[in-house]
Amino acid sequence: MRRLAKLDHRHVWHPFTQMRDWLRREPIIIASGQGAVLREADGREYLDANSSIWTNLHGHNHPQINAAIRRQLRKIAHSSALGLANEPASLLAEKLVKTANPKMVGRASPRAGSSAASPHLSKVFFSDDGSTALEVALKLAYEFTRRTRSQSVGREPSRAMQPKFLSLAGAYHGDTVGAVALGHIDLFHQSYSGLLFKTDKVMAPCCYRCPFNRAKPERADARDCRRCNWECVGKVEEKFSAQKKRGNPYAAFVFEPLMQGAAGMIPQPNGWLRQVAEIARGHGALLVADEVMTGFGRTGVSNSELLTPNSEFLFACHHEGVQPDFLGLAKGMTGGYLPMAATLTTQEVFDAFLGEYEEFKTFFHGHSYTANQLGAAAALASLEILQSAGSVRARARLQKNLHVELQGLWSLPNVGDIRQAGLMAGVELVKDWRTRQPFELRERAGIRVCEAMARRGVLTRPVGNVVVLMPPYCTTPAQLQKIVSALGESIAATLKN
Ligand code: PMP
Repeated sequence: MRRLAKLDHRHVWHPFTQMRDWLRREPIIIASGQGAVLREADGREYLDANSSIWTNLHGHNHPQINAAIRRQLRKIAHSSALGLANEPASLLAEKLVKTANPKMVGRASPRAGSSAASPHLSKVFFSDDGSTALEVALKLAYEFTRRTRSQSVGREPSRAMQPKFLSLAGAYHGDTVGAVALGHIDLFHQSYSGLLFKTDKVMAPCCYRCPFNRAKPERADARDCRRCNWECVGKVEEKFSAQKKRGNPYAAFVFEPLMQGAAGMIPQPNGWLRQVAEIARGHGALLVADEVMTGFGRTGVSNSELLTPNSEFLFACHHEGVQPDFLGLAKGMTGGYLPMAATLTTQEVFDAFLGEYEEFKTFFHGHSYTANQLGAAAALASLEILQSAGSVRARARLQKNLHVELQGLWSLPNVGDIRQAGLMAGVELVKDWRTRQPFELRERAGIRVCEAMARRGVLTRPVGNVVVLMPPYCTTPAQLQKIVSALGESIAATLKN
């Protein structure tokens, strides 16, 4: 075994990894990368089919982002945001605010009782990763609600006042304790239940496995052939109404827009988000959009946006005309270069934390690397690339090619559903497509297929029985074809229906 592999085995504990399995084989050790390609020291190449766990946008070693980081490095790498401002973070905040408030038609109506015609996201709180972006949204929404509700009855916020949160079944919003409390994946979260505060969950749309969908299994995306009466939307209304009757209406509704990633790449049918956002607003709840995975163009480019690249929607909720009160961003924000995150919110929320020092209304939260200059410089360069006409065209092409390539997988009996949303897709593996019978988790179907893909030079990770494809935006047609055919061959060779 190579020296670095030995060191890894001896000392490194890997995330979301059964280390007994890990220690059984020599790891792939990435030494360099270029575009969609990752390389080992001996020259062996792999395609990065999940964009290094959903972070990379424009490819590795991108000259524009490299140059921006080098330019910044000549000035300074980091100074604290506790008590100091800095150039790239200020510029980035301005740019994020601009992209997070596009012109939209038919947006969901404003929160009941809100003075704003529609939330304008004008304040940016920087942090480090997706979990902290959501942790910040959670704490701000909680305290904002306590303060505004107590103000409306002319009292100080009391300890007894406990604003409640609603999130989606299967939700995943990160691994810090607050973010875990918002999540509903028993496998990850159950062990820590003693540490968590209680949040409620509501049915998420999942057409492929929905008990209300009367359609028979088809060789097509289950969203396109669903036969139902939007019962999933009805469940959201029921949940909000029941909570209101208890006298403590939900403070906030937390969701991943268009596609729930770690839940198993579960896409929402067109119109779901718009309808549930209306319901939540009607009940006076704040909307918290977790765009850690979906943000920065991942959910695709529509034809009308191609004509006018400057009006492109870079965030998933805007595709449904929904503007949240909190927008959590991370992963792709720096183009996949550096750990940096942001929580965007409104002036109204910001104002609730204003006061004289001795009133102690300060938002007592912060991280050492908040507003890091290198990360902000990378994010600015990444946004510039993203908003170029060339990037819009390349993404539209990749989105179309991904759709075309994926169609070939329907011929495999172990492919139950193929769920694409823009530039990402989940392929659900089943025992037989006619019955939709799932593999048991202990059969490790997704893991085995991904191991077989790695042997064919393509790297990705599954979510249970769902193989995730999320290529960098620079992936060429030939590379994409190799990714999808490696997946098809690996399914056929591994599962042998
Ligand atoms: N929210 C979503 C939707 C995510 O997909 C993830 C990470 N997969 C997170 C939050 C947490 O992000 P991080 O791993 O950067 O803490």
